[in-house]
Amino acid sequence: MIFYLAPLSRGEVGSRSDPGEGLLLRQSIETKRRAERSAVFVVPRNHSRAARRSANMRAIRSKNTTPELTVRRLVYSLGYRYRLHRKDLPGKPDLVFGTRRKVIFVHGCYWHGHGCKVGGTGAKSNRDYWGPKISGNKARDKRRLAELRKLGWKCLVVWECETSGLRGLERRIRKFLD
Ligand SMILES: [Zn+2]
Repeated sequence: MIFYLAPLSRGEVGSRSDPGEGLLLRQSIETKRRAERSAVFVVPRNHSRAARRSANMRAIRSKNTTPELTVRRLVYSLGYRYRLHRKDLPGKPDLVFGTRRKVIFVHGCYWHGHGCKVGGTGAKSNRDYWGPKISGNKARDKRRLAELRKLGWKCLVVWECETSGLRGLERRIRKFLD
């Protein structure tokens, strides 16, 4: 995996509005990636398939996933400051820009049912198993966006598959936040 972004400059780390986020972002990407990779082996192999799948799903769906960190890193490097996972807002948006009244969600293509190649793939047995769960996630996402918009928040959803093309993503984020 190649990092496309230049390292954050010293001055940005631990700024008053956002203490520690720069440092956290630099340290955490590799750690999280390792954790995600090893998550597959959390449950011993002699457990049932379903139990293993549930454990993997819990591990993989945790916060601070690599796509989310990629977006945070990009947004941070563009000079925007934000709060993370504000619990008082519907859906606990991943990035919250309070004064702009804007939020960004970073969605994994599979679990949130994106219509892209990643979201639509997976073994058929796997889709039969998780299909209802994914439909539920999609419906819930839609409800939460509607609630947020009703409260006057502008929302942007960034899909996991979009985080590999950083130039396009940067344009979208700038357009949304400016
Ligand atoms: Zn996708």
